[in-house]
Amino acid sequence: MSVDSSDSSGRTTQSTSKPQSRASSSTTQSTSSKSESRPSSSKASSLRGPHVKLEPVDGPSWTIKESPLIAAGGGTGKGMFATRLISAGEVILTDMPMLMLKSPYANGEDDPVWSIDDRPHEIPPKDVYKAFKKLSTDDQLYCLTVLSHVATSDKQLLNSAKDVKLEAKSHDELIEAGKILAIWENNVLQAEGELQILCRNVSRINHSCVPNAVHTWDFLSGLSIRAICDIPAGTEVLISYVRDFDCYTKRAEDLTSYGFRCTCAACGESDYSRESAKRRSELDELELSLVTHDPDGDGTPGKPEISTEDELRICKRMLQVLAHEPSMRSFEAEIQYHYGYRLHDLGRTAEAVEHLEAGFRLLTICQGSERSTTQECKEELDECKEELDEMPSFIKPERSSVRK
Ligand SMILES: [Zn+2]
Repeated sequence: MSVDSSDSSGRTTQSTSKPQSRASSSTTQSTSSKSESRPSSSKASSLRGPHVKLEPVDGPSWTIKESPLIAAGGGTGKGMFATRLISAGEVILTDMPMLMLKSPYANGEDDPVWSIDDRPHEIPPKDVYKAFKKLSTDDQLYCLTVLSHVATSDKQLLNSAKDVKLEAKSHDELIEAGKILAIWENNVLQAEGELQILCRNVSRINHSCVPNAVHTWDFLSGLSIRAICDIPAGTEVLISYVRDFDCYTKRAEDLTSYGFRCTCAACGESDYSRESAKRRSELDELELSLVTHDPDGDGTPGKPEISTEDELRICKRMLQVLAHEPSMRSFEAEIQYHYGYRLHDLGRTAEAVEHLEAGFRLLTICQGSERSTTQECKEELDECKEELDEMPSFIKPERSSVRK
């Protein structure tokens, strides 16, 4: 996908260089857990045709089966599992969205409920409902069965459908509308900027705060899931639905609506989880000092830029912390690139090469070699290497180690 200059929290990176400081590589996830109660609504039955497939077809490297992770969190549900070794950087699957919507508020219209810390502007329920009703019969049925898994009472469904009373008039239509809105809320993904999508197979992937996969988006191929590390056969493929740097309490709160409790290594009671919590908190603070708020959306930063010296110090510290959090490789990729780019600016070319090489390797894994960010990093790296080659040997600096 093309690089977006703002992250999911509405922060904007300092606009002084090509590299982006935060997570534009992976779309921000807010899918559901896949806790399922297989519904058999009369509407779903009426939609069912003779050739409708309720289950996704297995991919070349994955299958859908019961997830022990969901069971450990107190639910029942399925997830996606590797059927063979999936190598780091491999595209596990690519999904074209069934639904693709953008909030009318995304274009600067006043949104009464939006704040800077929110994720994309909410799509008005009536827009979701209308778009859903235009889906093919197969897709509607798939959503109403496979993707509808949060048990909700009729009273709750009717309440959540109150905003679509003009579109759904009868009691049955309102119940179905409530289900549709819940399906959207529990499975929607942020694709790029304000674009929000609902996908068929990606919605089957469960959450972990220590994921082994990320997702990227582009208009031509859709949403891709990439392994960020080697995933052995039999291992569940997991992505993160929440912001990496949030504390346990905030992550748990954000996951509540998906009907499960995360039991990943970062959420348990262990030395790792305690240390990881400290690292996430530090990264959160460091990232805040790297970015500038733009509350008015007019390019006016809310606080002054930091000095280059401080920026380098922050990048270096972030990389030291990230060395202990391999599930945050997407973020590390961008910091390596950002750091290398800044070092090059300052003429510290040999050091720049080390970080640009690391950035390029990680960007290739997390985003793919065709991405504009990956290619820009490669160009910067090649430029640095050329400069080094042209330097007389007596002034050519020694290369440093990336991780000190
Ligand atoms: Zn967790």
